[in-house]
Amino acid sequence: MSDAAPPTLLVATANQGKLRELRVLIEGFSLVSLRDVGIDDLDEPGADYRSNATAKALEASRRSGMLAIADDSGLEVDALGGAPGWFSARFGGTHGRDQANREALVEALRGVAAPARTARFRCCVAVADCKGALDDRVLVGVGTCGGRVIEAPRGTGGFGYDPLLIPDGYDETLAELDETVKNALSHRARAIAAVMPALRAYVAASRGVH
Ligand code: IMP
Repeated sequence: MSDAAPPTLLVATANQGKLRELRVLIEGFSLVSLRDVGIDDLDEPGADYRSNATAKALEASRRSGMLAIADDSGLEVDALGGAPGWFSARFGGTHGRDQANREALVEALRGVAAPARTARFRCCVAVADCKGALDDRVLVGVGTCGGRVIEAPRGTGGFGYDPLLIPDGYDETLAELDETVKNALSHRARAIAAVMPALRAYVAASRGVH
């Protein structure tokens, strides 16, 4: 990319935990939040990560006229047949209540033995630029982070289900590990890494840089 000012990217999430992580994970862009552009929240009309991320990125880009990135993510627990999955933000009854969601998960897994508590976070990110060459298409990246769900929350870092998940290869939960560790192995980090080459190429082409 040239010496020009970094391109502006709207991060289309109202979840402050995600926003914090995305600010660290996305380099080379000037990031603005939904709040910065006066958008409250976005619909999640779909029943899977990809359609939700796509819908949120397109809506944010349409409403702001900007290049926008959205993510949809969730925790898939094998003993629950993949639940809560794309429903993760509402597992405890009310959208976005992390503690209620964790309590519901602890309850749902009560009595499940350690070897059967395998799970993974999954994330899909989508980038939209309705006013640019992307038009109504999106760039997409996906990532996962496997581990196991423990019986009671541990740690104060991160957000959401982090205090309940010990990632593969570690003995601490994502809420106990340093955030640099989470940002190196998380589902969100992997999804961002997957979309970044296409996003950088798109921005360079849009600016006429080759
Ligand atoms: P949504 O993507 O806004 O539908 O919400 C995803 C939900 O999944 C969040 O509210 C969290 O409960 C959970 N989640 C997604 N990513 C993470 C993570 O990195 N750590 C912990 N919980 C997460």
